[in-house]
Amino acid sequence: MTITTLPAKPTTAIDPTRLLPAALRDDFPILQQTVHGDRPLVFLDNAASTQRPRQVIEVLRRVYERDYANVHRGIHTLSERSTEQYEDAREKAREFIGAQHAREIIFTSGTTASINLVARSWGDANVKAGDEILVTTMEHHSNLVPWQQLAERSGAVLKHVPITDDGLLILDTLDTLLTERTKIVAVASVSNVLGTINPVREIARRAHAAGAIVLVDAAQSVPHLPTNVQEFGADFLAFSGHKMLGPTGIGVLYGREELLDAMPPFLGGGSMINRVWDDRFTPAELPAKFEAGTPPIAPAIALGAAIDRLKLIGLDAVARHEHELVRYAYDRLREIEGLRILGPPPDHRAGLVSFTLPEPHAHDVAQLLDQQGIAVRAGHHCTWPLHDRLGITASTRASFYLYNTPAEVDLLVEVVAKIRDRFRPQGRKRRQ
Ligand code: PMP
Repeated sequence: MTITTLPAKPTTAIDPTRLLPAALRDDFPILQQTVHGDRPLVFLDNAASTQRPRQVIEVLRRVYERDYANVHRGIHTLSERSTEQYEDAREKAREFIGAQHAREIIFTSGTTASINLVARSWGDANVKAGDEILVTTMEHHSNLVPWQQLAERSGAVLKHVPITDDGLLILDTLDTLLTERTKIVAVASVSNVLGTINPVREIARRAHAAGAIVLVDAAQSVPHLPTNVQEFGADFLAFSGHKMLGPTGIGVLYGREELLDAMPPFLGGGSMINRVWDDRFTPAELPAKFEAGTPPIAPAIALGAAIDRLKLIGLDAVARHEHELVRYAYDRLREIEGLRILGPPPDHRAGLVSFTLPEPHAHDVAQLLDQQGIAVRAGHHCTWPLHDRLGITASTRASFYLYNTPAEVDLLVEVVAKIRDRFRPQGRKRRQ
């Protein structure tokens, strides 16, 4: 087995030159509040959904106050304005992930909708009884259940790439897991629980060599790390606007043009047709073929504004900032006796850290943190099979974004340490 786990660097000092300017935080009105009386809000639930800067909120307001009408239909001023801005947003999304053509960018309601679209449209047309679908043990339910459903409909077999105890994919298993029956490999680029950054490029190379295509669940990577679908070798890639400073209800499915072209439409209705008769229809060209009905117009335009904002800050700088915070959090949390961090050392992970304590339960940890103003997530994080693999029922997750600070990490660690102390078995209280 070639997987080796590198030791974490034994340093806990923050390098301020790797951090983003603290003033960025001023752009986020929601972060300027206190909760539970006088506790400043410390928002560490970004893997679930991030907050929006006023530049994005302003664009939403401007669209609704000045430009809004349905797109692609009316020949009037507002419809033209909305259409132009909606298509501009598509172009921004295209550029952001390095896709070749804007028609390869399908607006959906989010990652979940994007993956379901592929499982239904591509899956039903291409996957037959006895074929194989390959996922990993660390997938979010969004990148697992649609494939389970496809396997059930088609009679295909679902297989899983296993992980090490440290939360790294065991890539050697691809030698036997990838066969001539494998039709698709569906993998997260970053795990929403372990934080593991998966070697998508290598997986895609091996999948393609075996004749399979690759779907990348990029919900946790597009917001945080520079992404290029062509470098990844992704055939499909999915992400959500609300995890990257944008609104809810908008997401993207990238698909390679020749694949999308050959796929049947998924939802039927307005906009996705070229011509309709009493008994049949012909589908529209890409991307309209997969955008039936009135799309999320203002959210798409505001996603464009979020992308503008991220580009201005720079994804490299965002990644550096988060890496600095997560390394610091990892090193400090590790010092708490009995605390178990899930997933690999910082050099292999994006900006989040999940952990368990012997006592109390993860939900209680989250509730006690909330009382101090710290928002984290607790539970199985839509990764039940991963939690089964790790032998736990729940974990607590702190996830960072560009507006978080080392002082917030300090507070997190301090409160977690106090919780740990308070729930230590009687007679074993730690002396301060
Ligand atoms: N995949 C991963 C890795 C995620 O973290 C999430 C969101 N938690 C999803 C998919 C689903 O995203 P959405 O709820 O926006 O569809």
